[in-house]
Amino acid sequence: MELKATRASAIGNLENFVENNLGEYSKLRNFDFGPNKRSNTSCLSPYITHGVINETEVIKKSLDKFSFSKNEKFIQEILWRTYWKGWMELRSGVWDDYLIDLKKIKEEFKDNRDYLDAIEGNTKIECFNEWVNELKTYNYLHNHTRMWFASIWIFTLELPWQLGAELFMQHLYDGDTASNTLGWRWVAGIQTQGKHYLASEWNIKKFTNNRFQNIKLNENVPPKISGKNYTILHKTFENPLNFENKDLLVFENNLSFEITDFANQKFRKILLVVNKNENRNIQLSENVVKFKASLIEDQRKRLEDKSIDCKIIDINEIKNLESCYCLYPTVGENLDYINQNSLKNIEFLFRKLDQNSWKFCNKGFFNFKKYIPKIISSFS
Ligand SMILES: Cc1cc2nc3c(=O)[nH]c(=O)nc-3n(C[C@H](O)[C@H](O)[C@H](O)COP(=O)(O)OP(=O)(O)OC[C@H]3O[C@@H](n4cnc5c(N)ncnc54)[C@H](O)[C@@H]3O)c2cc1C
Repeated sequence: MELKATRASAIGNLENFVENNLGEYSKLRNFDFGPNKRSNTSCLSPYITHGVINETEVIKKSLDKFSFSKNEKFIQEILWRTYWKGWMELRSGVWDDYLIDLKKIKEEFKDNRDYLDAIEGNTKIECFNEWVNELKTYNYLHNHTRMWFASIWIFTLELPWQLGAELFMQHLYDGDTASNTLGWRWVAGIQTQGKHYLASEWNIKKFTNNRFQNIKLNENVPPKISGKNYTILHKTFENPLNFENKDLLVFENNLSFEITDFANQKFRKILLVVNKNENRNIQLSENVVKFKASLIEDQRKRLEDKSIDCKIIDINEIKNLESCYCLYPTVGENLDYINQNSLKNIEFLFRKLDQNSWKFCNKGFFNFKKYIPKIISSFS
């Protein structure tokens, strides 16, 4: 599995997947054949998370190859991400509470032997240990494995989900506030309350092609309970009608300016923002820091090649900027920095896809799915 930190690699991987593997996606996508055999899913999430390629581009490419009905499963998965993002935007208190709980629990568990064994891949469960190593080495896990991993963490190792979600964010190249936090909450049974995901020995064996033995799990445990309910925030995601001559801030979630809805808009300068660990609640691993830095540098070069005035800046510098625009960073550490420093000089710009989708994220995914044809018809 090669995940080079460039847009050229992302496009190459997308084209290769659509041409050779998309046709079998719905049949094979749940199998995890191991890190050296990843062609049954796209492995595009590290690029999509950073906006190196975007959902619209991926869906359009898939529709150039197959009809909507043949592609339905793949398109649904792509838009799961958009749905989770919108769900989180409308209930951002979930992220705030997660960080508060995490801080407290980290202190409580800092010397806990079971926790330390789990993050070192030193438990009695062989497959789990292998996945911890895989996470740290490849910075990627298959979706089904993320579900098994989270389920074993919560229901067999009996550790708090918040710590597992932190471990994922530290090491995943595609680490994403919404998909990760809500993915863990979903496995625990507090996202769809009362419905949890329980990993089982037969399921792991079947979908890993019998690569693991001795999988002794707690397969009969009730879901976790959360006493908290979140009311939906009434946010508008509107763009200015007229643009002024200002700088544009671009965070790590939009690293292909040239394919954004604002590519034809003239900005004074494009400022690519680096957010180092010193300003993050969750400390990213060295690999992830390097991956992000390389993607930012790749974007800088591409902009320079197009003679677009641009510069890489540290997040601390944005406090001193005059009024500017900013491609919306979405709920997470970068938006937290802007809010915590009360930066009123920044006007957000929202993607059309998000404007057209997030309004349908007030209920469950089942409801959201009904709007997928409508969302896709808005692409052109
Ligand atoms: C506990 C847990 C944590 C997760 N954390 C993250 C995370 O931090 N970042 C992240 O991008 N995804 C996360 N996911 C979702 C999913 O596992 C990954 O998006 C997927 O494995 C990426 O591999 P792929 O690109 O080969 O996916 P494919 O199967 O090829 O799907 C194509 C694209 O659809 C999106 N997608 C697919 N499945 C999901 C899903 N279940 N939820 C949301 N989007 C999806 C991704 O953008 C993916 O690149 C998490 C899932 C779980 C259960």
